[in-house]
Amino acid sequence: MKQKFNIHTHTSRCGHARGHDEQYVLAAIEAGFNTLGFSDHIPYPNANDNESRMDDTQSQEYLDSINSLKEKYIKKIDVKVGFEVEYLPKYHNYYYDMRKKCDYLILGQHTKYLGYDFDCFCNDADLDSYCTQIEQGMATNLFTYLAHPDYFLLGRNNFNEQCIKAAHRIGQASIKYDVPLEINLNGFKYGKKKFKTLKHSDYQDYYIYPFYDFWEIIKTYNCKVVYGFDAHAPLSLMDEYKIDIANSIIGDLNLNFIDEIKLNNKAAQ
Ligand SMILES: [Zn+2]
Ligand SMILES: [Zn+2]
Repeated sequence: MKQKFNIHTHTSRCGHARGHDEQYVLAAIEAGFNTLGFSDHIPYPNANDNESRMDDTQSQEYLDSINSLKEKYIKKIDVKVGFEVEYLPKYHNYYYDMRKKCDYLILGQHTKYLGYDFDCFCNDADLDSYCTQIEQGMATNLFTYLAHPDYFLLGRNNFNEQCIKAAHRIGQASIKYDVPLEINLNGFKYGKKKFKTLKHSDYQDYYIYPFYDFWEIIKTYNCKVVYGFDAHAPLSLMDEYKIDIANSIIGDLNLNFIDEIKLNNKAAQ
């Protein structure tokens, strides 16, 4: 059965996505979703970053725009508005304030600190930070799910013992805090990349995520799993074929996909 929701959707405000907000809603209706959640990259106070996220001053306009679409399309689709957030301890209180203004937050740990992004480079020490931040983030109960848990592989060319450890830490945290994990459907755009793994000592071509060796470990915990389009253009919500590609990679693992997503977690109740 096809997943009927997508809650990982961006808008042109982030500087690297295209389209009008309403076009995302129309595309989601055409794709047959019953829920569309917008989760644009959260702005940080006094930190302008035009290629990654909206400015702090744009967040109210973003919320207003999506909330008005929520009303306009109420009979056709359930529209929600939230943010995709990196857990950085110094912004702890800020996340709680932002959570009150919207419907949900997802965790997407792109950065070790602002300006130091894991997709450019992620050595073993960085990976340790990546996991620690995710564990701390999940422990807040602020997050509906963890986006692209295997994101760190963008900054690596190997899947080593440290990566195995990371998969175990993320799997354990997902169970402990009951935070589902996302199979991200936006990673295929990078094409295949060469990786060395513990199974193959020579370089082989892999899509970066979903990465089989990572999800094989997640399966041992039977974590809850959902697909996320991570849409940066309206039409990508209709790219159903990406689910087929993902399934050709991780399909035989029989992951624990859930049919419904609960936006509200403990912190919001
Ligand atoms: Zn983005
Ligand atoms: Zn995203």
